[in-house]
Amino acid sequence: MELFYRSTRGGGPAQTASAAILKGLAQDGGLFVPEILPRLDKSLEELSKMTYQETAYEVMKLFLTDFTEAELKDCIAKAYDSKFDTEVIAPLVEADGAYYLELFHGATIAFKDMALSILPHLLITSAKKNNVKNEIVILTATSGDTGKAALAGFADVEGTKIIVFYPKNGVSPIQEKQMVTQKGSNTFVVGITGNFDDAQTGVKQLFGDQELAVTMDKAGFQFSSANSINIGRLVPQIVYYVYAYAQLLKEGKIINGESINVAVPTGNFGNILAAYFAKNMGVPIAKLICASNENKVLFDFFQTGVYDRNREFVLTSSPSMDILISSNLERLIYMIADANAEKNAALMDALSSQGHYEITQEMKAKLADFVGNYASEQETSSKIKELYKKTGYVIDTHTAVASVVFDKYKKATNDTTKTIVASTASPFKFTRSVMNSIDKEYDAMDDFALVDTLSKLANVTVPKAIEEIRTAPVVHDTVCSKEEMKSVVMNFLL
Ligand SMILES: *Cc1c(COP(=O)(O)O)cnc(C)c1O
Repeated sequence: MELFYRSTRGGGPAQTASAAILKGLAQDGGLFVPEILPRLDKSLEELSKMTYQETAYEVMKLFLTDFTEAELKDCIAKAYDSKFDTEVIAPLVEADGAYYLELFHGATIAFKDMALSILPHLLITSAKKNNVKNEIVILTATSGDTGKAALAGFADVEGTKIIVFYPKNGVSPIQEKQMVTQKGSNTFVVGITGNFDDAQTGVKQLFGDQELAVTMDKAGFQFSSANSINIGRLVPQIVYYVYAYAQLLKEGKIINGESINVAVPTGNFGNILAAYFAKNMGVPIAKLICASNENKVLFDFFQTGVYDRNREFVLTSSPSMDILISSNLERLIYMIADANAEKNAALMDALSSQGHYEITQEMKAKLADFVGNYASEQETSSKIKELYKKTGYVIDTHTAVASVVFDKYKKATNDTTKTIVASTASPFKFTRSVMNSIDKEYDAMDDFALVDTLSKLANVTVPKAIEEIRTAPVVHDTVCSKEEMKSVVMNFLL
């Protein structure tokens, strides 16, 4: 049965999966959602015997129904290969009563690799299927991790170019170094004198600019998105929740059908939405624990039903979650509005004009499986130290936010359900914050001395992604204001 995609704001006809991937964002500014959420057609028992790649096929075939089996398997094989430093792709590590699902074993040591290793292949395949002749230009706003993961995925991929905008003073030194040293003649990295929301809003404006689209088309280009609003990002993320459940089953940690909870460090709401999709496809997930840092707009939303971005933007030690507009939440809002696009569009209009909206009681009742909470900077830092002292296991700042929120949840509810904590970045990506949490003395060291010390302390070899940037030259040094984004793009392409 073919699955079609519609805009959350109701505009335009239904799209095939490949067309939705190519477009990224719908014409009316909405996000593409599948008309129905498919159910897994393999049992959990069967899935527990599958590799990551086989699981990926079983999940993704249900969403990308216009891809042939050969096309999809080819994309999967090219994505989940030796770029990952472990054959299992997403290992589970048990520490202090939680199962950490390590999603950082790919090329850029953050969970964005899980989707961005496959997105370029999905896009190129989609372009072929839709007879696209133009070159695909990926426009991306990043809070730090998406940018590098997208650059790594698209660098030197024929028929594509990629332009990444990041907040100049809003990413970690390692994150910045990773991006500005990116090789590949089709890559372009630009710092914005603003925050992530400025970068994201700017990119959305470029996508919506019809005049620019015409100019680009004449020059043989068309824009597409690698941001987590692209359905081609969301679908690959469902896979690791299915896989993680199957692994727990395989290892005898749970019995078939036993419910688990998941705790997810959340920014743009893509990762946790993928868990929600997995749940709705038949994976026994009870609670979806949505963890925020001090930018706790989502916590407030789950508490009150009011989404309000009018607040101070806090720079934290978990910069990939420093977000006040969680784009993917729109998909959930649409779903709890019973696919009423008009209702959703009105709320999103309110968000862009007034900065806030309120959902109805009826909609709020459908969020019962979500539990929101947040971690302060102090709690995050203490958690890293505490877990290390107790177990020797070192987690990054984002993962620590989820871990703190999981602790708070357990304390409040006494719920003993086994829980997966999504571990979204390697501690080597946020070395300074991680090491300072363990001992303030470390702050005197330079970045790479810290890396070596962390390696000894955690007994983990320094990841290749970090080794590579030790000596790599800076090749991107463009900085612009948010108003200049359009001209920067035109200069690069035309
Ligand atoms: C992007 C990111 C997040 C947030 O994920 P969303 O899907 O945007 O909610 C959390 N942790 C890390 C390390 C990330 O890179």
